[in-house]
Amino acid sequence: MSAMASIVPLDVDGTAGTDHPVDGIISQTQSMQLASNNRDGANETAELDGSVSIDAITVNTTAPSYDFQGFSSTNKVEPCEDQCKCTHPYFNKWDGGYHCLDCRYRLNNTPEAIEKNKDRLALEAELEKNTPVDVIGEGQSVGSMSAARGVSIGFLLAFTKFYNCYDWNSWDIIRKILKPATEEHRCRVVELPEMASFVGPAKTFISYAQAGKWGDLVAAIADGGADLDRCVWIDLFAIRQWPSDKPDLDFASTIEHCSSFMVVCSYLKEVEETDFEAVVTGQASIYDLDVSVKRQICFARVWCLVEAQKACSMVGMPFIMKVGHHVLGADGSLTFDPAPSNMLQILIFSVDVKKAEATVESDRQRIIADIVAGVGVDKLNSTIRGAIIAAAGTKNGAIQCAACGDGNAIQTLLADPKSIFDICAGGFEGLLTTLLDSAIITDINMKDGDDGKTALMFASMGGHESCVRALLDAGADKDAKNTNDRTALLFASVRGHESCVRALLDAGADKDAKDNDGKTALMSASMTGHESCVRALLHASADKEAKDYKGMTALMFASMAGHESCVRALLDAGADKEAKDNDGGTALLLAPMAGHESCVRALLDAGVAYSTTTGLTTLFFMRITLLILPGYRSIRAMLFSISRWRQWEAEIASSKAPLTSSKLRL
Ligand SMILES: [Zn+2]
Repeated sequence: MSAMASIVPLDVDGTAGTDHPVDGIISQTQSMQLASNNRDGANETAELDGSVSIDAITVNTTAPSYDFQGFSSTNKVEPCEDQCKCTHPYFNKWDGGYHCLDCRYRLNNTPEAIEKNKDRLALEAELEKNTPVDVIGEGQSVGSMSAARGVSIGFLLAFTKFYNCYDWNSWDIIRKILKPATEEHRCRVVELPEMASFVGPAKTFISYAQAGKWGDLVAAIADGGADLDRCVWIDLFAIRQWPSDKPDLDFASTIEHCSSFMVVCSYLKEVEETDFEAVVTGQASIYDLDVSVKRQICFARVWCLVEAQKACSMVGMPFIMKVGHHVLGADGSLTFDPAPSNMLQILIFSVDVKKAEATVESDRQRIIADIVAGVGVDKLNSTIRGAIIAAAGTKNGAIQCAACGDGNAIQTLLADPKSIFDICAGGFEGLLTTLLDSAIITDINMKDGDDGKTALMFASMGGHESCVRALLDAGADKDAKNTNDRTALLFASVRGHESCVRALLDAGADKDAKDNDGKTALMSASMTGHESCVRALLHASADKEAKDYKGMTALMFASMAGHESCVRALLDAGADKEAKDNDGGTALLLAPMAGHESCVRALLDAGVAYSTTTGLTTLFFMRITLLILPGYRSIRAMLFSISRWRQWEAEIASSKAPLTSSKLRL
């Protein structure tokens, strides 16, 4: 077992590293059965492709499960044969530009285009002028009116079944169904007469990436036996899909009128296949993936972060994450299949809202600046990470339905004391309070059956400060240990949840408690690169020189994993720069092994003495031998490290500033 191997596989639930992390952690698929209806006679085979011509979508005349009868519109579109003379019917208006939904032709991007399309532009301007305006009623606001435009989950299921649009993305839904349906009055979908019985005040705001599959979204929303009468807010139905003076873009005020927030992310093979070791050591992340993939991850896009930040800033707002894909059974049943744990781990270790992207750079800068000035980047990262951790650990989608206020789900939860684990993992403060107020919890330090975690550990692992504080107030044991001797403080530290680390330290939790590998909270936070937690622990005088059973210190872990900011925080606090592990290795030896020049530079800047080349090389190759032992999964990444290290060595040998020869005796 090498030192390197010990930093690598960290499971979603923070349990010990193995080569096959978290097998079995993902719950059994939660199945949601659609009421079975006669599919005969339904024209569900229409092959639709938005880039070419579209024939009418034939309306299904059999009654679907929620009695949705389809929209009365037909969808007849002439093929657009000459791209220079777009005859497609629908245009989006972005920043004053008209973009064809079918061929992306732009009506007015050049003076020539404006001249050529002046009749069409005049027609669009006229239609836009005639778009009805909203009247804000007595006691109402833009937000309250927007939130009233929810649609029932039963409708979503029926709609999706009716149009057989499980594999479409949202753009297809807009183009092929919603635009034609609302064309006549240029109204919102919820304003159509056919929608009257499916619209109501939204309880759950749904945030998702429009490039993801529609079926995944609907299956995620319905997962866990959701109340079919609960209304959810989805932009497609609630927003006018036509240009107007006042577009419906006030998402933040809409969220204020909702009582739960759900983020849905489709399963993505490319994310699952990203090299986990490379992600942990910062050499790869989801943000390096192709834009076509990133477009499907909502928190990789800044616009979705506007919504996430709002939800994150609302006290007690359940923040739910669902990651997975839909499975359509032969009998018409729709099931949500959660993503495999390795995809979730990669998401957890990659999340960094600062790296989110936008088509327009100025949008990106403004939104990130808003987050920095608002809840803060660390808090938003921690919230998203916590929601993914909960998604990975939650064994029952009913918990999330209960968090969204579904009565039956709440009753089921309150009858089972063990539901406290999932409630705490999800950070559902309201449910926790209800549960603690009931007589059903007789032992607040009860341990779960897997590895002996307490409710406090689940809440700490997910970064749910309010639940941590509620549990501490209710007398939870702050120093309880699981079967690996991990404490709540260790769980919070390894996941980078600074607010929970502080709450536990404030309550007097043992800051130097060690797990059965001898790791402390400070080592855990250093290893995973969570500078804010490292600083909080150092501020609380956590032992900087503590060693794990291999003799490794926090500084060595930070150096080896390449977390320069943590290295600097530890050096600033006066950590012993020359400390040796059981093999005689030091922080300066461990950093180059993984190719982390920035950490080496930080150590050299701090005046760490450099050993002789001979000694260095000997130790280096000794360690490489250890690394080749079974258990190290990514030989490719290791070889990369070696070549990188050599390159680095050559670079330093020939470099002048800032590495002076007095610092380097090569
Ligand atoms: Zn066109």
